[in-house]
Amino acid sequence: MHRLKRSCFSLWLLPALLVCMEALPAAAQSAPQPDLVLHGTVRGSQNHSYIKVPFRVPAGVERVTLTFAYTEKDQHTALDLGVLDPKELRCWAGGNKSVLTIALSDATPSCLPGTIPAGTWNVLIGVPNIRPQVISHYTAQLYFTRTGLVADYPEVLREPLRDGPAWFRGDLHMHTANSDGQCPSQTGKMVPCPVFVTVDAAARRGLDFIAITDHNATSQYDAMRELQPYFDKVLLIPGREITTFYGHLNFLGTTDYLNFRLGSPSVPNVNDLLRRAHKLGALVSINHPRDPSGEICMGCGWTPNPPADMHLLDAIEAVNSGSEIPAFSGIPFWEHQLDLGYRLTAIGGSDNHRPMRPLDQLGSVGSPTTVVYAENLSTPAILAGIRSGRVFIDLAGSSNRMLEFTAACNGREAHMGGLLQASKGSQVLFDVQTAADAGGRAELVEDGKPIHSTVLAGGTGASASLHASWISDGRRHWFLVQVVGADGKLWLLGNPVYVNWAQQTASGSS
Ligand SMILES: [Zn+2]
Ligand SMILES: [Zn+2]
Repeated sequence: MHRLKRSCFSLWLLPALLVCMEALPAAAQSAPQPDLVLHGTVRGSQNHSYIKVPFRVPAGVERVTLTFAYTEKDQHTALDLGVLDPKELRCWAGGNKSVLTIALSDATPSCLPGTIPAGTWNVLIGVPNIRPQVISHYTAQLYFTRTGLVADYPEVLREPLRDGPAWFRGDLHMHTANSDGQCPSQTGKMVPCPVFVTVDAAARRGLDFIAITDHNATSQYDAMRELQPYFDKVLLIPGREITTFYGHLNFLGTTDYLNFRLGSPSVPNVNDLLRRAHKLGALVSINHPRDPSGEICMGCGWTPNPPADMHLLDAIEAVNSGSEIPAFSGIPFWEHQLDLGYRLTAIGGSDNHRPMRPLDQLGSVGSPTTVVYAENLSTPAILAGIRSGRVFIDLAGSSNRMLEFTAACNGREAHMGGLLQASKGSQVLFDVQTAADAGGRAELVEDGKPIHSTVLAGGTGASASLHASWISDGRRHWFLVQVVGADGKLWLLGNPVYVNWAQQTASGSS
């Protein structure tokens, strides 16, 4: 536990108001505890007044978050809540909210997003009702966040929508009115499509999470801030599609600005861009790497020169709904990176630009679906799950197809995305559990070539188990499982178990 430093003072304007401030030691700034705690009292004599409670926002703060609580509600005490920055009113929430957050790109409804000036701010307390003899004690907790990374937010802003480890289904790539997402208006005109429509489509599909990835824009985060409490079963992950003239990248998990102008003097090459992205803590994937670039889709293919240092990436969008044409599939590009020794998680993205597209159509929100094993349903946990590689892509975007794949050797076991050491001559045992539909075939693949397969038995929800063994040659290999339909279409694509790979991760750390 951190000891709080406490100081109390009477405000010169309001002698009856005693305010106590508690400040945490600097070492505790990254902990979930508040940076400042303001305590005070409101008395009956202050009925029908407005009380300013000052606090200081240090330089470098990107987000101010406030929680507010008070006593004597059972005595019909009612306190309204607002926030003043050094110049203007930033929030007026009345009596309807007890948590407010303000940042450059998003703010709780009732608040204005925008720059966070350093200096003296005030909690503004309105007193619509307090009885003459009542004394109400209030507590305002203030959190100052210095980055846009969701993992750095105070806990009150990143509480999981669902607790406990599970497989979560989502879509990591889509566009709204904040870039080129469109839908028909009331009169049938195609117009920039509100974020609500996209999130509603995800909810109707039963997805657990989506990343909204408008092209280079950050304006979508304010709508997401408003929508998240309403859509409390669909986690909204802040994302962006960093769209350059030499390829597209998804940038997930932070609202921080990233200079996307690749080729300009400030971002001369792609590795400058990727290093900046990693410094900000974002999860970064290459999108639709095999799409052609040209006048129909400018900069859509992956063509940076000099080439990217693949250690600076986390994932590859192996399946993009717009890349159903085999020549445009991202899977060979991803597998080539595996052959070269880069552990990059294969993910999928609908790249939806028409959120009203019927959900049974290719490219609707959730088609394909990326299925992630995560510790809970929160942005940090989903992104950690993607980084870990325990992920498969459900190309049809079903709600129930499953794939679990493990490999074991000498008493050690690895899941998809995991490393397994197997010295020459030792036996590796593979275990595959999958559920999809009758007629499907689960294939165990070694370095891109199927080595075992089994047919799924039963009707809808047909399942299969596959057990196989392999004697190690002591060299580096990757093994994955894919499930293919009777029509030859890929249904599920799993991520590899990495046998005899070094500990180095995709981001280059050990
Ligand atoms: Zn793109
Ligand atoms: Zn896109």
